[in-house]
Amino acid sequence: MFHVSGCWLTWNPILETAYMNREETFSHLKENPEVSVLIVGGGINGLGVFRDLAMNGVDVLLVEREDFCSGASAASSHMAHGGIRYLENGEFRLVREAVRERNLMLQNAPHIVKPLPTTIPMFKYFSGLLNAPLKFFGLLDRPSERGSLVIKLGLMMYDAYTGRQRTVPRHKFYSRRKSLAKWDQLNPEVVNTAVYYDGAILQPERLGVELMLDAEAENPDAHALNYVSMVGGSEDTIILRDELTDETYDVRPKLVINAAGPWIDISNRKIGLSTRFIGGTKGSHIVVRHDELRKAIGENEFFFENKDGRIVLIFPLFDRVLIGTTDTPVEHPDDVRCTDEEIEYFLDMVKRVFPSLSLSRENIVFQFSGVRPLPHSSARTAGQISRDHSIEVLSGDWTNLAFPVYSLVGGKWTSFRAFAEQVTDKALARLGLSRQKDTRNLPIGGGRGYPRDEEDARRQIESLSAWTGVARERLKYLFERYGTRAESIATFMNGGTDYILRTLPDYSRREISFLIQHEKIHHLDDFILRRSMLGMLGHLTPGMLEELADVFSNVLGWDAERKAVEVTRTLSILADRHGVRL
Ligand SMILES: Cc1cc2nc3c(=O)[nH]c(=O)nc-3n(C[C@H](O)[C@H](O)[C@H](O)COP(=O)(O)OP(=O)(O)OC[C@H]3O[C@@H](n4cnc5c(N)ncnc54)[C@H](O)[C@@H]3O)c2cc1C
Repeated sequence: MFHVSGCWLTWNPILETAYMNREETFSHLKENPEVSVLIVGGGINGLGVFRDLAMNGVDVLLVEREDFCSGASAASSHMAHGGIRYLENGEFRLVREAVRERNLMLQNAPHIVKPLPTTIPMFKYFSGLLNAPLKFFGLLDRPSERGSLVIKLGLMMYDAYTGRQRTVPRHKFYSRRKSLAKWDQLNPEVVNTAVYYDGAILQPERLGVELMLDAEAENPDAHALNYVSMVGGSEDTIILRDELTDETYDVRPKLVINAAGPWIDISNRKIGLSTRFIGGTKGSHIVVRHDELRKAIGENEFFFENKDGRIVLIFPLFDRVLIGTTDTPVEHPDDVRCTDEEIEYFLDMVKRVFPSLSLSRENIVFQFSGVRPLPHSSARTAGQISRDHSIEVLSGDWTNLAFPVYSLVGGKWTSFRAFAEQVTDKALARLGLSRQKDTRNLPIGGGRGYPRDEEDARRQIESLSAWTGVARERLKYLFERYGTRAESIATFMNGGTDYILRTLPDYSRREISFLIQHEKIHHLDDFILRRSMLGMLGHLTPGMLEELADVFSNVLGWDAERKAVEVTRTLSILADRHGVRL
């Protein structure tokens, strides 16, 4: 068993958690290589299962070869959505599940997932009347534009599914006249608009990290390590490599859960399994700084069909606008980038809805690309590939392994909890255990005890300010970023000399120091790209990077050489993957 007896535990009353640090976990692993479950991959699916198993008392180890939520989970459109367009592919079960899970995300992570009014602009009344049923029966193999009538029918079905769990209002349909009065920059050629509600996952990567911290706080036998790869294995042993030191470790699991997303088949090959589960499609996004466009959409996402029938979005992301996405089959998940062609496509598509606004490449502050871990399929278009999830089980004589391997194919941010629940139930049955805890109504991280309304928030901030001595203005920022975890962070900030950063006045040194020490940050880019929104919103400047590197050096004891390496690494990731040149 992978347990903690004889090992020194850090009890941290400020973080309200008990866990081993990285070195302690490795030295424990050396002495106790047995573990009930090994999860490979720390994207949302791996982390979701990690939390559920941990909550149910299982000793579980998760390894992620890079940082948590840096693969497909870092490339999403930020929507917690019921998947209205999946109705067209006849995926009714999936839509019902996703609508329920969207509502649970709004309930359990209210600090990160917010209700999102979603507007569909329509340019035709009748188009698609024939196409929708054809698609439903699999007789149409290309995307095509849908008219108002078809969209109205789809929204009525969507509302019907939301029916009994109404956490968001029903859809509304607007005439051309009303639409143009409501959206003054909208293309006058629209014939109707419809507004319905989904959810916005404002900081998905933070949500993943908070799930992991919750799991470790609940179960001292649950450990998640980033920058650790599964590099091989046979019989009863898996070989792991610490990517920060190059050291290798053996573990002997009873069950392996392959949650490597688009890399599932590649990971299976490392342990001698030849699979073809994944047929990934690439999707890109750009983030633009354009005040008029940001004002034109207000707090609404515009979700619509482009001329080619692809569903695209213009999404309010803090003070910026997120624009996406594409859907192109790819063979290999490494090295996907947002291309010039995709950028042209995005700029063109915004013109279709807001023709009077001039958006150009100069407005782009960030771009990103990732691969959806969809099932391998013979569908004729990417849009027709099922967005459902499944557990593929490999075990028995034809593998040379003493344990079964469950590969988690598909899945979305929105339905991660339901998928994790299904995987956990199967794993518990395999281990001969029964479920003790359900995650359905379990708050996540800073969603615990979240204020019910603005008045409640004001009261919480007021009393926290009195208790910690941290100014109300600062606490507002902390609440916005971390929900009720603001309390732990403010208490930590008050525990030593603190100062506001010169280049980043809404952050303080001790706030960043808390994140470095408690959120498994090892590289500068972990903070810039995944624990904060600085990179994605294009707020970073050369001076800021330098000042942040100084804080990191101070907290982690980096010398000048290591600091320079980290700055160069961050600059190169920003330029290569995100088109950002500081
Ligand atoms: C363009 C795009 C838009 C999307 N939009 C939405 C949306 O709006 N809403 C929504 O709900 N969903 C959306 N999704 C879907 C969702 O983001 C993904 O389905 C989900 O993130 C998949 O998570 P995962 O954990 O399976 O994979 P990943 O996040 O890719 O995690 C797998 C991890 O495994 C690690 N790994 C690989 N090999 C190894 C190894 N040998 N050892 C250790 N670790 C390894 C990788 O580094 C990676 O971090 C979108 C996806 C894309 C690509």
